Amino acid sequence: MKFVGAHVSAAGGVSNAPLNAKKIGAKAFALFTKNQRQWKAKPLTEEEVEKFKKNLKSSGIKTEHVLPHDSYLINLGHPEKEKRKKSLKAFIEEVKRCEILGLKYLNFHPGSHLRQISESECIKLITESINLTLEATNGVTLVIENTAGQGSNIGYRFEHLSHIIELVEDKTRIGVCLDTCHLFAAGYDLRTQEAFNETMSRFDATVGFKYLKGMHLNDAKSSLGSRIDRHHSIGKGNLGIAPFKFIMNDSRFDNIPLILETIDPALWPEEIKLLYAL
Ligand SMILES: [Zn+2]
Ligand SMILES: [Zn+2]
Repeated sequence: MKFVGAHVSAAGGVSNAPLNAKKIGAKAFALFTKNQRQWKAKPLTEEEVEKFKKNLKSSGIKTEHVLPHDSYLINLGHPEKEKRKKSLKAFIEEVKRCEILGLKYLNFHPGSHLRQISESECIKLITESINLTLEATNGVTLVIENTAGQGSNIGYRFEHLSHIIELVEDKTRIGVCLDTCHLFAAGYDLRTQEAFNETMSRFDATVGFKYLKGMHLNDAKSSLGSRIDRHHSIGKGNLGIAPFKFIMNDSRFDNIPLILETIDPALWPEEIKLLYAL
């Protein structure tokens, strides 16, 4: 079974996210548990946590189909120690917010070397941060997202993801989320059944489907291998509809959250219907 949804708004409080998901006919959703552009966040009140759990239950969406996303400010591989520590502290706080909300996952972008250190040095720092986070928290699985490789972002090669996983001590609490737009921008083609199969078998050989905990379903304004991260609505970009048909008909993508981060939220109800119709 497929669980399709979108990255919905949590404006006015996290408890609104399940309601927003239900409104668009989603069976899964992503959310920010705090303002994604600020370091500071007010602690979640007991009342808000209870409201979130109640609304989640009434939405019929299971906790394993909720894929929270961390703040854009966090860089677990920051070359400067003080700034990396600040990111680590904020990241641990976010994992704890997920714990309090009873959620299973936190989706994050690996980090950026900012052209000050090599990719492999940055990967080591990211893994140190992940190991410290896992030690300081309980229950939540950290889900690394593949990136488009824009700027100095790590995570645009499957080898980056597998290298990180290799160095993580507790492999039961690490996973991967694949973003279709990021794959394409990073040079992994998905547009024909042959190209799709080739990309996915490379993923399986390098990382392994057992680590796949979610997908971000986005068409791409950017072109193949451009390393530019520009999402588009499903079927309207350079990927076209075909890759989404392959995903919706492939049992390797069963039972995980399939999340739209497409550019026009007004289209989400239609996009969800369209995906199920494929
Ligand atoms: Zn994404
Ligand atoms: Zn993106």
